[in-house]
Amino acid sequence: MPEDATAREWMLAEEAVPIRLMATIWADVAGVHDDLCTADDLDAWLDATAVDRSGQGCTSAELDLARRLRDAVRRLAAQVTGDDREAARSATGDARAAVRDLNEVAAHLPGPRIMLADGVLQCTTSAPGSAVTGALARVAAESIALLGGPDADMLRACRAPGCVLYFVKTHPRREWCSVTCGNRVRAARRYEKVRSVR
Ligand SMILES: [Zn+2]
Repeated sequence: MPEDATAREWMLAEEAVPIRLMATIWADVAGVHDDLCTADDLDAWLDATAVDRSGQGCTSAELDLARRLRDAVRRLAAQVTGDDREAARSATGDARAAVRDLNEVAAHLPGPRIMLADGVLQCTTSAPGSAVTGALARVAAESIALLGGPDADMLRACRAPGCVLYFVKTHPRREWCSVTCGNRVRAARRYEKVRSVR
């Protein structure tokens, strides 16, 4: 298959957008990686997750906003899941500040507003600052629904060694974020078993 220069691999590509946003911080044996370091990264991520931004490219300010949103969602996921994984580095930080950040991004959602013009009340619809902030606001709204809704009970921190990802326990027997983590854990257990019978 010819390699497409724009095709990138993302962690947990089959999951819901808030989970995928959190999974832009991931880890392997080399350490923790961040997939959202440049405005191009954010463009690629929004394309990959099919979050519509009317073809508008991201600015560095929008990258900052996206990273703030991502970090807030990870911080609150840590709160919900009682995450104490050292590698995740998400259980630290101020949860109130994370709540504030998340609400602030969601506030860019277009909505009805009322205004007084020459003594007459008029209805308008607020427009987001840009198509990208509008897109990030929709991601924030989805994240709020996940963290504060019924699915929050099923949110989990993946406990495979070294993993920093979160997932929704969509099946009673689902224990890991991915097949890769499950296989890694099973291989480690087999190794331990072989070692202990020696
Ligand atoms: Zn995992």
